[in-house]
Amino acid sequence: MRFSQTLIPTLRENPSEAEVVSHKLMLRAGFIRKLSSGVYSYLPLGLMTLRHIEKIVREEMNAAGAQEVLLPMVQPADLWRESGRLQKYGPELLRFRDRHERESCLGPTHEEVITDLVRNNVHSYRALPLNLYQIQTKFRDEIRPRFGLMRGREFIMKDAYSFDDTDEAAQLTYEKMRYAYHRIFTRCGLAFRAVEADTGTIGGSFSHEFMVLADTGEDTLVICPKCSYAANMEKAACMPPPTGEKVAEKPLAKVETPGKRKVGAVTEFLRISAKELVKTMIFMADGKPVAVLLRGDHEVQPVKLQNFLGAVEVELATDQECFTATGVPSGYLGPIGMKIPMVADREVLAMQNFAIGAGEKNYHFINANVGRDFQVERTADLRLITEDDRCPLCGAGLNLTRGIEVGHIFKLGTNYSEALHAVFLDSNGQEKPFIMGCYGIGVSRVAAAAIEQNHDKDGMIWPLPIAPLPLIILNLGVNDEKITTAAESLYSELEEQGMDVLLDDRDERPGSKFKDADLLGIPYRLTVGKKFAKEGLVELRTRKTGESVDIPFAEVRDKIYQMINP
Ligand code: ATP
Ligand code: MG
Repeated sequence: MRFSQTLIPTLRENPSEAEVVSHKLMLRAGFIRKLSSGVYSYLPLGLMTLRHIEKIVREEMNAAGAQEVLLPMVQPADLWRESGRLQKYGPELLRFRDRHERESCLGPTHEEVITDLVRNNVHSYRALPLNLYQIQTKFRDEIRPRFGLMRGREFIMKDAYSFDDTDEAAQLTYEKMRYAYHRIFTRCGLAFRAVEADTGTIGGSFSHEFMVLADTGEDTLVICPKCSYAANMEKAACMPPPTGEKVAEKPLAKVETPGKRKVGAVTEFLRISAKELVKTMIFMADGKPVAVLLRGDHEVQPVKLQNFLGAVEVELATDQECFTATGVPSGYLGPIGMKIPMVADREVLAMQNFAIGAGEKNYHFINANVGRDFQVERTADLRLITEDDRCPLCGAGLNLTRGIEVGHIFKLGTNYSEALHAVFLDSNGQEKPFIMGCYGIGVSRVAAAAIEQNHDKDGMIWPLPIAPLPLIILNLGVNDEKITTAAESLYSELEEQGMDVLLDDRDERPGSKFKDADLLGIPYRLTVGKKFAKEGLVELRTRKTGESVDIPFAEVRDKIYQMINP
């Protein structure tokens, strides 16, 4: 591929619209261009990277026994009505009408379509297990499309859906996919972790997210440095609090705390630490108020609360909702005399002689104790894990790191097959719903995540397996016959042997060729310039380490093969 003939519109300046490094670099290196909010065109180099990722994904999915299909992007709304998701999916689902006034939508995911395909074509346990996948453009009308390919509205996803006849078989399929995902991200050359994710109503450890580790990631991962435990924040658990020695209960006392509503203000006023206060927060769970008790320095993890309550939606109550539900202004709420259902984070049970709101404006109680002063009937782990917490499996201190979700595997059970009446006959002739699983990879997001993880101030640093090309040859003497002949002959020879090479044959200053080569992040750079004219030497430089070696031109082919096909 010749730089002079290829559409690689590099930019010197950082585009102002881009906030994160992968977005900036993809625009600057001419990998992508924006068409409209969250919608991008892939230029030649961007597409080459995507194709390499897709190839790895395809090979591993095929090796795991999945079959490739390609499903329609335009889907009838009726199918979504049948599964019950037409309402539930909300505005991320782009809906429209065709010329016959038929309601349609653009596929954000394909559970409905695949379940429909299978219910119409698979009727016996003999055809199972069945695992179907596609690599296709998805559309989600994201509320905040941002960060370029990281969160687009139109993006490329690999989605697979499995159908099994028994729970054991479904579990085996799940494990196969988990293994395939490990292979995929390892082969892509990325540092990643699989973390346990929330399964909502399904339960069990049947959902894992694959996270590329990067400081700029949107997600927080909880990782045990000693054992295998890893989870996302929604799911992360920790060791229960130690049951410390009981101290003598002090008498409950009401104290005036004028205008002190926030934990910080109350504890400062009372000269106690936030660990000696229990705060009472009101949440609206599907529109009904619930009081949550929590140690002062802790935070509620809303998904844990939602699962515990079995609610569809949980939101922090507004001050007005608080007052309407309890008759007490927020800031002075407390468990004593609380009129609405109450649930306590389990850490509260380990506390003694703590402060609480008095349930009355401008007052708190000190030296409150569970059991004596108020009862809690329901307790659960409801809080956000912090770095002070200990691993639930081995007790080691937990680490929090940032990551980017690139893949998600999920056991669906019979949710969709029951809703859409997708059934098969088992070996006894009994009708049963398929047991399903779904498995996604954000192919375009993988490219962005790879850059977030691998870059420096000069540009991208592609891992070799997913780099658009492994090698760039710089001809630094386009007007010098000797140099040009050498660069051109090497280029043709390597291309003939099937290696993708970018030849920078532009009539540009060496400085700008070096700058562009760094920006594009191509793993190896070969410079044919003055040293070749004088001494017959070319320079081979590794982008990642910055190391370079001068080698005689005659030896360069062998060296390149060694490095690129180790
Ligand atoms: P997120 O929490 O990031 O919104 P999700 O839970 O909606 O992701 P899934 O429905 O599990 O994602 O989709 C499978 C994969 O598709 C994700 O793991 C992610 O890599 C990718 N993906 C999801 N939404 C987008 C998007 N808007 N742009 C690019 N990739 C995406
Ligand atoms: Mg999403």
